[in-house]
Amino acid sequence: MTTDSPGPDADFATLEGPVLVVGGAGYIGSHTVRALEARGVPVVVFDDFSTGHPEVVKAPLVRATLGDREALKEAFARWAPRAVMHFAARCYVGESVTDPSTYYRENVINAWNLLEAMRDAGCQELVFSSSCATYGIPVALPLTEDNPQVPINPYGRTKLHMEHMMEDYSNAYGLRYAALRYFNAAGAAPEGDLGEDHTPETHLIPLVLGVALGHRPAIDIFGNDYPTPDGTCVRDYIHIVDLADAHLRALARLQAGRPALACNLGTGQGYSVREIIETARRITGHPIPERIAPRRPGDPPELVSGGTRAFEVLGWQPRHSELKDILADAWRFHQAHPRGYSR
Ligand code: UDP
Repeated sequence: MTTDSPGPDADFATLEGPVLVVGGAGYIGSHTVRALEARGVPVVVFDDFSTGHPEVVKAPLVRATLGDREALKEAFARWAPRAVMHFAARCYVGESVTDPSTYYRENVINAWNLLEAMRDAGCQELVFSSSCATYGIPVALPLTEDNPQVPINPYGRTKLHMEHMMEDYSNAYGLRYAALRYFNAAGAAPEGDLGEDHTPETHLIPLVLGVALGHRPAIDIFGNDYPTPDGTCVRDYIHIVDLADAHLRALARLQAGRPALACNLGTGQGYSVREIIETARRITGHPIPERIAPRRPGDPPELVSGGTRAFEVLGWQPRHSELKDILADAWRFHQAHPRGYSR
């Protein structure tokens, strides 16, 4: 794969659809669908609703799983997508350790089904949700794209397998792709109608806000003896609207004929678990009791994105990712949907 020299700022006017958004009913997918539609790009959602939400889908829908190769073939025949964005995957590190079979099936085999369907249909443009989990233990912080990719759990390994498959398909068959390595997706649409709703919920910010809503008595802090300034884990939280914007930029770049790319999407600013809880107290006005709990297996002490590649090649920079904005938007969504979309 080549990552070339600095590119111009994205020209959204050149974006062409239809874009098949696989996993378009999920958290990141649904916000990206909204961003595409806001730019007038036609979208078709492909989702099996295993974790996504029917309520958020307003675009034409193919309700099917990526395991169903016939359904994939039909979707490409019927909608003739110009490009694909692939968000549909399992994404919990802990679950990937206890149930790797599901992760290899859904994140690798199903992703291969998608690559094959694209190849059969002559569809050559793919934007893929990768992860900072593909790096494993950082050699240096902040983490740049040059860090060796040596994942330490099955989740990270499955994401890296897909990066390798895309690279090989690119070399052999001309696939044009972007691998976007997210740090911690967070926040919600400023309109308050799209946000984070996982069952079960494992992510810090929705859990903290669930305590503010009175759904749980306290937030567990998974370890306060890490080698970090306050002893709790540090992560790089990026607003979902900024993430969606990066996907459009990546697609515009591919459609402008520029080479494959892999880049981090993070803010470069880390916050500790304690800082998240403290800011949530300020934003919500709730006391949010906390408890110290054991470390969660597989959690590195600190993950913060470094470097400037996303800015250089996509003209991208976070605009909504100040912590107070992330929490204010997430809080608006959680207040409007205290039990999630359909509950
Ligand atoms: N975390 C925590 N309590 C919770 C959930 C998460 O202390 O109830 C911590 C977790 O150990 C990690 C950080 O919050 O350091 C972010 O975790 P999350 O699951 O939101 O995202 P991840 O970093 O695993 O992708």
